[in-house]
Amino acid sequence: MPALSIPGFESLEAALKHFFGYDTFRPGQQDVMAAALQNQDLLVIMPTGGGKSLCFQLPALLKSGLTIVVSPLIALMQDQVTALEANDIAATFLNSSLGAVEARERCDRILSGTVKLLYVAPERLLNEGFLNFLDQVKAKVGLAGIAVDEAHCVSEWGHDFRPEYRRLAEIRQRYPDVPVTALTATATERVRGDILHQLRLQDPHVHVSSFNRPNLYYEVRPKERNSYNSLYQEIRQQDGASGIIYCLSRREVNELTERLQDDGISALPYHAGLKDADRSQNQDRFIRDHVQIMVATVAFGMGINKPDVRFVIHYNLPRNIESYYQEAGRAGRDGESSRCLLYFSLKDIHTLDWLIDQKVDANGQPLENEQRVARQQMRQMIDYAESTECRRTIQLGYFGETFAGNCGECDNCRHPKPVEDWTVEAQKFLSCVARCKERFGMNHIIDVLRGSKSQKVLSRGHNRLSTYGIGNDKTADQWRRLGRSLLHQGLVAETTDGYPVLKLNNQSWAVLKKERVVQVAVPRTPEKDPTQVDLK
Ligand code: ADP
Ligand code: ZN
Repeated sequence: MPALSIPGFESLEAALKHFFGYDTFRPGQQDVMAAALQNQDLLVIMPTGGGKSLCFQLPALLKSGLTIVVSPLIALMQDQVTALEANDIAATFLNSSLGAVEARERCDRILSGTVKLLYVAPERLLNEGFLNFLDQVKAKVGLAGIAVDEAHCVSEWGHDFRPEYRRLAEIRQRYPDVPVTALTATATERVRGDILHQLRLQDPHVHVSSFNRPNLYYEVRPKERNSYNSLYQEIRQQDGASGIIYCLSRREVNELTERLQDDGISALPYHAGLKDADRSQNQDRFIRDHVQIMVATVAFGMGINKPDVRFVIHYNLPRNIESYYQEAGRAGRDGESSRCLLYFSLKDIHTLDWLIDQKVDANGQPLENEQRVARQQMRQMIDYAESTECRRTIQLGYFGETFAGNCGECDNCRHPKPVEDWTVEAQKFLSCVARCKERFGMNHIIDVLRGSKSQKVLSRGHNRLSTYGIGNDKTADQWRRLGRSLLHQGLVAETTDGYPVLKLNNQSWAVLKKERVVQVAVPRTPEKDPTQVDLK
């Protein structure tokens, strides 16, 4: 990269040290900042805790003019501004929590050119009075850039769609020459594409960090009658360190909190059924270390920046891998090693399945598309929980990232199940996918392999394929485990919108051409799969 000239500083590192006291950049930060200083539009995708904020904060301090930061949560805004002020950085926010006099004063300071970063909520940014104010700012002190934090809120495919975010394109039209930086920790292709399009980013520099969080240890445990004891032991071993326990329902949150309290553990509940004041008080006590454990529904966590959470326990099955990644990722934001445990039970599958059934439109008709996507995502979550492969490999694979496995920091890597050579079976499986013209899902492939006489197989003439019935020697369960393992290892692909359909990729062809062997931890002698339930 050509050396950047940073007015007043020897280098970008020197500026980093001067303003924030850090010696080195986190991966990606430097490249992103270099692009920002050259006024490029930017899309920054980094996992939670990756250090996104600095990517727009440092350039804002080095450029002339004001940088606007769009942020969806008032609490988040306040935290960031307080943290910046603690470093003597001229930042402020404008939101509905301020009185008229205070707001006027802040605007005057901005117009005098002493403020470098202004945080606002998206709805305010688009209000006509505010836009007129920005015109004045632009004329007097200049607009250095617009940073859109939590940019996935612009996408219906993200987990937190906010209609106000859609209108941010208007600001782009009003100030076409002011560079826009969009930042998010949400990584799916679809959301990325939506952000680029919705925010009208021009020839953007796109940075995608690895989503690997090497300091997190992942483990899945079966949830049994006495799982509470295992949970209790786990907490005891943490020796007072902060932790979050996620439950599916408010009732479970309340029950578990009470039980832990009865057993002398410092815990408080957090869920949407509590009064606002109680909820924010509980959260506050957790952040200030006045209470060790937050027992919470998924309502807890977004925008909470508590760096020293040492463990996150899911006492119920999360809805999908992305939610799991985000929620577990609230552990260890300070980079210290931390534990992520998941308790997995058959009962949770039924509960989640029931919840998915409740997704209906205003007329009570099932939202079929949403239900189907939700079921597929749940299936992937179950696969994750059941898998004998490196947990990290599966999580990162979900975000399209290839990881070599053997992370050493997950239960499956620490206590590997013996693997067996299933290359021949994998070839049968993949050639069956090919014979079915890559137009069917796993169940159908297995039916064909096992010579099913079902209507779906016969009506398509799949009983005449050369792969029909060649897999009779294995149970459907064994084939399913092999199929999932192939998916997790990236040896076959699955479409993620609409019905899941198996597709061959380069790796599949390598297997078919006998260029690589396939090892899986599937037992050769059939065993009953206790979690195999019939899902719609
Ligand atoms: P994100 O918004 O991506 O979740 P933050 O910007 O809040 O992450 O950063 C997470 C933590 O890492 C913060 O406490 C921040 O001060 C710290 N941090 C960011 N960049 C660096 C760096 N280069 N060196 C050390 N700490 C950093
Ligand atoms: Zn691993």
